[in-house]
Amino acid sequence: QSTIDKIAAGEVVERPSSVVKELVENAIDAGASAITVEIKEGGTTFIRITDNGAGIDKEQVPLAFLRHATSKIRKVEDLSLISSLGFRGEALSSIAAVSRVELITKPHEQLIGVRYQIEGGMEKGMEEIGAPDGTTFLIRDLFYNTPARAKFLKTPTTEAGYISSFIEQLALSHPHISFKYMQNGQTKLHTSGNNNLKEAIYQIYGRDITRELIEIHTKDRDETIRIDGFIGKPVISRGNRNFENYYVNGRYVKSKIVTKAVEDAYHTFMMQHKYPFTCLHIQIKGSDVDVNVHPTKMEVRFSNQELVYRQIYQAILQGLQHKEL
Ligand code: ADP
Ligand code: MG
Repeated sequence: QSTIDKIAAGEVVERPSSVVKELVENAIDAGASAITVEIKEGGTTFIRITDNGAGIDKEQVPLAFLRHATSKIRKVEDLSLISSLGFRGEALSSIAAVSRVELITKPHEQLIGVRYQIEGGMEKGMEEIGAPDGTTFLIRDLFYNTPARAKFLKTPTTEAGYISSFIEQLALSHPHISFKYMQNGQTKLHTSGNNNLKEAIYQIYGRDITRELIEIHTKDRDETIRIDGFIGKPVISRGNRNFENYYVNGRYVKSKIVTKAVEDAYHTFMMQHKYPFTCLHIQIKGSDVDVNVHPTKMEVRFSNQELVYRQIYQAILQGLQHKEL
C-alpha cells in the first residue's frame, strides 16, 4: 500500500464521521430509499452502512476502490451538471487505506451478490454470496495502521456525537429517505422517509418544537429561488444559532447571507433579538450556486447574493405575517 494513498486518505477521512458521510452520500447517490447506519465505540471499531440502492456490479467492485475511480463523471463537461453529492472518486480508496473493509453488494438485476474484503488497501478476497438488493459496507478498526492519526480522535462519545448530528441533518435534508441510526445496538433515530419534513423535525426535536412552527413557502414558483420549510415562533427562539438549519439544493449548508436574511426578517417582525428555530430548504438553479467551495466544508456561494437575500427575506416576512403568533 502506497504512502500516497495514506496521505490522500487523510484529506477525506479525518474521523469516523467522515467515513459515515462519504458512505451515506454514496448510498444516496445510488438511489437508496432506506439507509441504516450502525456504529460501535464512536465508529472507531465498527461502522456499518446498509442501503437498498442500485448495488455495484461484480466486475466494478475492485475498481471502485481505486483512487479516482468514480462512476459519476463520464465526461469533463459533466462537471458543470453535477447533481450527485460525491464525485471525486476518492472516498472508497481512502477509507480502505486506513481500515478493514467488508463490502456486500447486489444490484437488483443480479441473482447473486458478492462479498469483497480489503484491509489497509490490500485486497483480501472476493466471493459470491446470497445478499439482499443494495449495498452494505462494514468498516472496522479505523486508523489501525495509522496510529498517529488515531491519536487525534476524541472520546467515543464525542465521535458518536458528530455522527448523530450528521445523521440528523441528513434526515432533515432528505425527508424522502428513511434513516435508521443505531449506536452500540440501540436505535437512536428512525425516520419514516415519507417526505414529511414536519414529521422528521418531530422525530429529531420532539413535540414542543413541532407545535410552534410556522410554515414557509414561496408562492411564486417562477422565482429564482424556491423556499420551503419551517420557522419557529418566538416562544421557541434561542440564545444561539444552534437551531438554525439551512439546506441548499438538498445539502446542509452554513451561509452568512441566508442566515442574515432570515434573522433580519425575523427580527423586523418580532422586534426581538433572539435566534429562530429554522428548517428551511432552498432550491436554486445549479448555475446560480456553488456548493462545492470545499468538499468537506458546508459553505455555499451564490452568484447573486442580493437577490438571494431579498427573496429569502420576503418569503420569511410573508410567512410570519400570515400567521397568528
Ligand atoms: P465517488 O462517490 O466520488 O464516485 P467513491 O470512492 O465514493 O467515489 O465511490 C466509488 C464508486 O463506487 C462510486 O462512483 C460508485 O460507482 C460506487 N459505489 C460506492 N458506494 C456505493 C453504493 N452504496 N451503492 C452503489 N454504488 C456505490
Ligand atoms: Mg462518494
